[in-house]
Amino acid sequence: MSEYKYDAIVIGAGMSGSWAAKELCEKGLKTLVLDRGRNVKHVQDYPTATKQPWEFDLRGDIPLSTLQENPSISKCYAYREDNAHFFVKDTEHPYVQLKPFDWIRGYQVGGKSLMWARQTQRWSDYDFAGPARDGFAVDWPIRYRDLAPWYDKVERFVGIAGNQDGVDTVPDGQFLPAWELNCVEQYFASEVRKNYNDRQVIFGRCAHLTKPQAIHIEQGRGSCLSRKECERGCPFGGYFSANSSTIPWAYRTGNMTLRPHAIVESILYDEQSARAYGVRVIDAESKEVTEYTADVIFLNAGAINSIAILQNSISNRFANGLGNDAGVLGKYVAFHNYRAKITAQYEGMANRNVIGQKPTSAYIPRFRNVYGQDTDFMRGYAAGFDARRQPDSADTEGLIGQALTQRMTNYQPKLSPWLVKSHMMGETIPKETNLVKLDTNRVDAWGMPLIQISIDYDDNDDKMMIDFFEQFTEMFEKAGFSEITKIDSQQAPGLDIHEMGGIRMGHDPSTSLLNRWNQLHACKNVYVTDGACMTSTSTQNPSLTYMALAARAAHHAVEALKKQDI
Ligand SMILES: Cc1cc2nc3c(=O)[nH]c(=O)nc-3n(C[C@H](O)[C@H](O)[C@H](O)COP(=O)(O)OP(=O)(O)OC[C@H]3O[C@@H](n4cnc5c(N)ncnc54)[C@H](O)[C@@H]3O)c2cc1C
Ligand code: SF4
Repeated sequence: MSEYKYDAIVIGAGMSGSWAAKELCEKGLKTLVLDRGRNVKHVQDYPTATKQPWEFDLRGDIPLSTLQENPSISKCYAYREDNAHFFVKDTEHPYVQLKPFDWIRGYQVGGKSLMWARQTQRWSDYDFAGPARDGFAVDWPIRYRDLAPWYDKVERFVGIAGNQDGVDTVPDGQFLPAWELNCVEQYFASEVRKNYNDRQVIFGRCAHLTKPQAIHIEQGRGSCLSRKECERGCPFGGYFSANSSTIPWAYRTGNMTLRPHAIVESILYDEQSARAYGVRVIDAESKEVTEYTADVIFLNAGAINSIAILQNSISNRFANGLGNDAGVLGKYVAFHNYRAKITAQYEGMANRNVIGQKPTSAYIPRFRNVYGQDTDFMRGYAAGFDARRQPDSADTEGLIGQALTQRMTNYQPKLSPWLVKSHMMGETIPKETNLVKLDTNRVDAWGMPLIQISIDYDDNDDKMMIDFFEQFTEMFEKAGFSEITKIDSQQAPGLDIHEMGGIRMGHDPSTSLLNRWNQLHACKNVYVTDGACMTSTSTQNPSLTYMALAARAAHHAVEALKKQDI
């Protein structure tokens, strides 16, 4: 039976679970890491990483029939022929959209850390203290100072490129050198500085090794070469993924057992000891059911799947899902509003262009309602910004065969004016009505209840979008940009891929599920450290914070086990 008994179990080998696994293994705990997907080994399982465009049958496109059969995933900007093998197809893992929700998933060892866009801004006390100040959610039981040392630790190991910007909404950290913003991005940054004293344009911090340190070389990772093919898996380990970094690191301790194709059906609870004692797993290939036991369990299946696992963990003590004394399990789910985009042209710097590329862009930290309430909506938004030129398509339009060949030989492209664009990343307000629950009638191919999702925008999101358009129109006009176009993509929630909440942290067990260490209030040896634990959403990308929370909670679990306190 020893192969079924471990010190710790981690459910989900993605961004956050791999951090829990690394920390637990380093501290000497025999750790079983379960993931419902296949194993993806660094380098050898990146089949497209070094392919040239002409080696793809559809030059990067997805077949129309696949797009039509998988409407949700097809809307994701990152889903292409060269990395389709990392994305879950809607048809393979159906779910119920009570309201439109495009759920983007990566079921494999590494999870979505293989396909992410690697933006890594710290959260600040304007985020952690926000709900208490503005009264829109329960109070976070932690503050920035609780997480700061764990951000430091994660950033050093992951490798984050960035500048020390001194912006208090996105605290500085342990950064590797940043790339330069290009000339128009720098110009816009200086215009914004000149015209406003409450906003800045900075380099978006990102998980890329611009200058690998000893700790990265020890991981077997090398410099990012800026070739921007990251979502295929990077053979150099130039960006952080669980596959290139935390999973092999945990493996090297000799304490990790990794079990792919392991769908966790539920967490098992022992009423006598009032603790969880293990998990029930369905083999994704054979459908065989196995139970594994452990002293401590980390739940990191990705927010919505983590909610579903707790909801499916029924016992006499917890008839409505493990830890759900408050009745809020699956409720108060929130996300980021990415609907608004604004584009324009810049006729200046017509004699300049950029050679080469950078796998990130500029970032405008939140400036609305930061120091007080100064608009008619709650909270605020951050924004991405980038500027580029492209060959004027009219130059080669309509040409084919020999005429095209002649034009392309010694081709000196005519360039378009600079095209600038910005997209909004808006905080949404956690609401009881935005929820995830289990279908009581229908099950998936493994007998698991289908997941129902009912999540929507509200008036606050609309008001915020109007403000973004007004503010950025003004900022663009002041910078001399023309042809300003505002776009509301009307995209459904989900495509932001930042779903959070549902198993939220809070002081009070009657309104939240997790305490300040990410333990279930009502079952202390279960920790949840993925997006489900988030009390509110901030405007910053969340994964760096999940990783810091996971590392912090793992250390707490190790200490608590030593003291026999869980
Ligand atoms: C295109 C794209 C761009 C993104 N850009 C950014 C960005 O710039 N910055 C940022 O912060 N975030 C970004 N994200 C989001 C980021 O990827 C996620 O926040 C992060 O991966 C979440 O980590 P996680 O550990 O919760 O989930 P995941 O990394 O998805 O890992 C969850 C794992 O759990 C497994 N699992 C699920 N259910 C079960 C089960 N029942 N049993 C066992 N295993 C299970 C899955 O197979 C998966 O491997 C992006 C995502 C995508 C797809
Ligand atoms: S941009 Fe950097 S991380 Fe991305 S594929 Fe290229 S070398 Fe790898």
